[in-house]
Amino acid sequence: GSTIGILGGGQLGRMLSVAASRLGFKTHIFEPSANPPAADVAAKVTTASYEDADTLRAFAETVDVITYEFENIPTSSLDLLESLRPIHPNREALRISQDRLTEKTFLAELGLSTAPFANVESEVDMTAAVAEIGTPSIMKTRRFGYDGKGQSRLKSAEDAAQALADMQGAPAVLEGFVNFSCEISVIAARSADGQVSAFDPGENVHRDGILHTTTVPAKVPARLLTDAVLMAGRILNALDYVGVLGVEFFVTPQGLVINEIAPRVHNSGHWTQNGCTCCQFEQHIRAVAGWPLGDGNRHSDVVMENLIGDDMDRLPELMADPACALHLYGKADVKPGRKMAHVNRIVSG
Ligand code: ATP
Ligand code: MG
Ligand code: MG
Repeated sequence: GSTIGILGGGQLGRMLSVAASRLGFKTHIFEPSANPPAADVAAKVTTASYEDADTLRAFAETVDVITYEFENIPTSSLDLLESLRPIHPNREALRISQDRLTEKTFLAELGLSTAPFANVESEVDMTAAVAEIGTPSIMKTRRFGYDGKGQSRLKSAEDAAQALADMQGAPAVLEGFVNFSCEISVIAARSADGQVSAFDPGENVHRDGILHTTTVPAKVPARLLTDAVLMAGRILNALDYVGVLGVEFFVTPQGLVINEIAPRVHNSGHWTQNGCTCCQFEQHIRAVAGWPLGDGNRHSDVVMENLIGDDMDRLPELMADPACALHLYGKADVKPGRKMAHVNRIVSG
């Protein structure tokens, strides 16, 4: 059997490894931190820094294809890896989604609507950005932000200096605040031969900037759900993408506004593990392995809930509930804000 190399050993890497092994593949995880969640289930784990070229080369030589569960891989490491093995999704998809400015520019050029945005790298830029975008608005670091980290909200222009200071010198974008009625996301896949398949859009609720629940079906007019799937398909085709992509949307009275894209399996797609024959993890493995895509039709309605920090105290009750499918990440210590597990509650089927 062949071996799939996965950059990143968090819970996404862990669930990719489980899906891969069910299809008869081995996985080899590359992860800088020790004892990552994926280590329990992968055939092999390499613990090294992305700067360690020799180890990175040795890793690539043991695998047939490389994929990733996290998008902040240094460019120089990608150059080296790409010279040795195919990487899916491709470099361009990763480059675009590593930087919010590049990402929003790409989406706008495709004709897809985003919040108004402006680049901010200095006080002068900030003054111009506030004049152009106005308030309320949200300042976000261009790179490395997740779970709402690296963001600062502006209620009025008086918050500008504080928001700029909050970026700690990192390049940022100022985004107009979108008055949304709800948030949805589409998890879509594209195979090596260009077949596209999307899971049903899910409705997402965030708590303290972190995804709390995803509910399918989303209670949003059907035409908007169709729009969301078509927009995801446009993005996949424009990038000549292979693998699973997550696209987050704001639902507004004027239609859909794209918040961001993620070139990987996505937290808001975890419901597919118990709502579909072929889940997002299997779909991703199929795509990167050159297989045809699986059946992603929804057979059950699901509410996915993330178990974060002390939410783990509810485990006994969830364990006893026959409607709940539990997915634990095997993380040893519970910390506030740390994603420990998720539960897929089947609400009909
Ligand atoms: P993720 O963990 O999803 O990668 P992130 O750190 O990249 O999160 P965003 O998705 O950009 O952050 O923002 C987190 C949440 O903040 C959004 O889901 C939304 O609820 C809110 N938000 C972000 N941008 C805007 C905006 N322009 N207008 C209104 N709300 C916003
Ligand atoms: Mg994000
Ligand atoms: Mg997001």
